[in-house]
Amino acid sequence: MPRFNARMSLWAVLLICFALKSFAADRPPNIVFVFSDDHAVQAISAYGSNINQTPNIDRIAKQGAVFVNSFCANSICGPSRACIQTGKHSHLNGFLRNGNRFDSSQTTFPKILQKSGYQTAVIGKWHLDSDPVGYDYWEVLPGQGSYYNPDLIQMDGSRKRYDGYCTDIITDLALDWLKEGRDQDKPFLLMCQHKAPHRNWTPAPRHLDMFKGVTVPEPETLFDDYNGRSALLKENEMSINGHFFWSHDAKFHGDNLFPEHFVGGNQNGEYRRMTDEQKAAWDAHYEPENQAFIKAMQAGELNDKQILQWKYQRYIKDYLACIQAVDEGVGRLLNYLDESKLSENTIVIYSSDQGFYLGEHGWYDKRWMFEESLKMPFLVRWPGVLQPGVTSQALIQNIDYGPTFLDLAGLQIPAEMQGRSIVPVLKNAGQAPSDWRDAIYYAYYENAAVHNVPVHDGVRTDRYKLMYFPRGRQWNLFDLEQDPQEMRSLHDDPQYAPIMTALQKRYRDLRQLYDVNTATIPATRGDEARWQERDRELTRRANNEGASAQLAFIGDSITQGWEGNGKQVWEQFYASRGAINLGIGGDRTEHVIWRLTHGNLGKVKPKVAVLMIGTNNTGHAMQDPSEVAAGVRKILDILDEKLPDTKVVLHGIFPRGATEFDEARLNNIAINDQIRRFHDGQRVFYLDIGATFLAADKTLSKDIMPDLLHLNAAGYQMWAEALEPTLKELGL
Ligand code: CA
Repeated sequence: MPRFNARMSLWAVLLICFALKSFAADRPPNIVFVFSDDHAVQAISAYGSNINQTPNIDRIAKQGAVFVNSFCANSICGPSRACIQTGKHSHLNGFLRNGNRFDSSQTTFPKILQKSGYQTAVIGKWHLDSDPVGYDYWEVLPGQGSYYNPDLIQMDGSRKRYDGYCTDIITDLALDWLKEGRDQDKPFLLMCQHKAPHRNWTPAPRHLDMFKGVTVPEPETLFDDYNGRSALLKENEMSINGHFFWSHDAKFHGDNLFPEHFVGGNQNGEYRRMTDEQKAAWDAHYEPENQAFIKAMQAGELNDKQILQWKYQRYIKDYLACIQAVDEGVGRLLNYLDESKLSENTIVIYSSDQGFYLGEHGWYDKRWMFEESLKMPFLVRWPGVLQPGVTSQALIQNIDYGPTFLDLAGLQIPAEMQGRSIVPVLKNAGQAPSDWRDAIYYAYYENAAVHNVPVHDGVRTDRYKLMYFPRGRQWNLFDLEQDPQEMRSLHDDPQYAPIMTALQKRYRDLRQLYDVNTATIPATRGDEARWQERDRELTRRANNEGASAQLAFIGDSITQGWEGNGKQVWEQFYASRGAINLGIGGDRTEHVIWRLTHGNLGKVKPKVAVLMIGTNNTGHAMQDPSEVAAGVRKILDILDEKLPDTKVVLHGIFPRGATEFDEARLNNIAINDQIRRFHDGQRVFYLDIGATFLAADKTLSKDIMPDLLHLNAAGYQMWAEALEPTLKELGL
């Protein structure tokens, strides 16, 4: 009997254990997502930094995993965040560049978590312009926010100013919410999002002197000359050498004393926000060094190389000191999770919106698809599932975060999300399952903005990287095993020809997989001076003369040519109707999409718009006809929305090339086959007058198009005559 009792009590204990365990297993894990801004993996000791120590961030890796092949989809602040919220690439979530406004009606992972019963909160830097949606609690910085005595937007729209240092305040607010703000009975998602270490790298008072007297090692490529890669690299405006601001970056007071080495203007707004005490600590740190530098410069003691080295030290010490407060904040959060016994069922992730150049290639900032800014830190701790000390080589991306969080919560991942859950990787000791992705797709769209980085996209496998620059149609190829610094493109190296061909196929296939159609993605050519000038002129014209215009022509060089070879015909047919010409040579559908949504329509509200676009999509880029047709469709949709009372004459793209089998002409024919279906007889009137220009044998005469693409005066006369009956029908 005693034996029986003992057995019974053992069973009882086992049953209770089982019940407790299944209760714990039933409750989905909490998620703490600590996110910073511009924190490069080169400045995290768990990634092997040789310039700083991040013991608290490292704790996550020691107790969990560090992902060494973690990448962003679009290396800039707002877009990276939009990719995370939606699990989609930029062209589908619509947040292509900073300054866009996030469409918060989209499907996002926090909305789904919240609906399933999670408590959700985001605190700190948001940078998506529209208010956070899907969060039970939020308190966010306006735009970039401030390091010192920051304002935070409250849920009622008001702003609250906090005294102190932004990174500490965001950590405090996150801890407050964990302790008192949430419903303790529900699983939670906490997104603690720091401003640091974003430019202009402003350390907390306690960290100002932490690198005093230290010389931080320089990266090997600090003096990069940009040879051996796309010529567009040389046009960058983000080098420490050429684009470092006297006050904003270098932290000098007063006028720029050395304009050949520093950029003037752009004062240090942070200093103006400081209290007298904060200013005193600031000046005690910077002023002795600054005065010593000025003295040495005035004495002519420093050569160009030494000046760049001085600027690098100033930059990197400020940047690293900002990270110190982030690391301390991570430590405080981890300590609280331990003390409150939350650690066991809480997944902790540390990441940052993209990487950053810490002097590599002579740069600060991000944007390029080169390694330093393409990489995102990703460290994760998941007690009981992920064993400690894992290094994962799996190729992951920020579009995976949303799907991962939903998967962790046991929720269905919407089919529209393009990323993949990394939970199978976490459950497999960091090993990618056999069907994991072999390559990631990257795209940068913020052309002609600050820092002058061109639009480019590409793919990266575990060893190779292929980049494409639409401007100049250049490919760059890197073998990261042979050339980890990416100093020489191999795109024209015969030895790499098979790899080049294979990666180009992978590039096309991934673009198809992710539904990338550049013909529909708004794009400026604002980095081309002539285009920029013409674009401004058209916006001016549309605002000044647009209101009286009965007729508007929209298109590329063939339309712009009404001001050249077609001038006299225009006078005769259109001048009296107050017609307006909105053509720009070389434009493709994506550029017209940009222009019509960025000022070119001005006050224009014509009775009729004549649209012809697409020949440059075929001539230069040889885009697929159905992709170009989708671009034309998008332009029609924009006109529909902006000019609901305007009738649109949609021209079939004119024939080009000498004979009927010219490849570009065949492409135009294929586009026309598709866009003719947009005719609805109400708003859109399709008109193909191509045959007007062709001989009986379908050859094109140089008497009409001397270069077999653009019309001469006789050609414009034929165009006007062929168009006239339709214009009359439409009431002009
Ligand atoms: Ca950023």
